[in-house]
Amino acid sequence: MDKTILICPVCGETLFLEEKRVYCSKGHSFDKAKEGYFYLITKQGYSLSGDSAESVRARREFLNSGYYSVLAKALVEAVEKYGKNNDVLTDVCCGEGYYSGYIKNNSSLELSVTGFDLSKAAVKLAAKAYPENLFYTANISFIPQKTSSADIMLHSFAPVHNAEFSRVLKKEGYLIDVIPSKRHLWQLKEVLYEKPYENDEKSTVGEPFRLVESITVTETVTLDKNGVKNVLFMTPYAYKTAENAEKKLLELESLTTEVGFVINIYKNSKDAF
Ligand SMILES: [Zn+2]
Repeated sequence: MDKTILICPVCGETLFLEEKRVYCSKGHSFDKAKEGYFYLITKQGYSLSGDSAESVRARREFLNSGYYSVLAKALVEAVEKYGKNNDVLTDVCCGEGYYSGYIKNNSSLELSVTGFDLSKAAVKLAAKAYPENLFYTANISFIPQKTSSADIMLHSFAPVHNAEFSRVLKKEGYLIDVIPSKRHLWQLKEVLYEKPYENDEKSTVGEPFRLVESITVTETVTLDKNGVKNVLFMTPYAYKTAENAEKKLLELESLTTEVGFVINIYKNSKDAF
């Protein structure tokens, strides 16, 4: 039996890995799905299902087209700067695992990657595409990973839970947090809204994290027809808009737009644990 860095979502004991399941010493057992991930959400999490299969598929296709490769490359650089060989990188709200998969495949460091998301549809795709990484479903308010088990946490475009992130991350470990820049997808917004607003670039990461570096990367990309459709469906809540504006966008053959990301790197300054 192999000890894992996972803990039981029912009792908090260490989970041990067998070929087709993980289990704890108290007899709680979780089967490995055929795609290779573990479903580690307890009853409280059932009402929250995360991104739909449709939006997850749209995001997979969009990201694999390389439209956000400027971000993926910058993340590799950040991990190489702040990480070291054999680090555990935990991809928080990993979606279909694109960024952590890209980092693992393109970084010069040996990394051990874990990732979780609330959306079963997302984790399924992640586990299929990156079988060498360990994926499970979970809610950010309870991450079934041992205290101080991650050296680096990657967190992009997702809600923050400072206390739980800090618990799972090692003291002095790094949280790499990505938020959209002021004019991310600006030209897309110009089609959708009469008066588009800039993003505020405000992060909700707080105590006990200390900002050590902030990097902004931007690029101009030209989305093809499919790319335009996918960007609309992968963020269904971000662009809630009038039907006719959406129609106008879907009729475009292509769209050239600015994309931009702010990568904030924080150190975990927790005292306890
Ligand atoms: Zn248990």
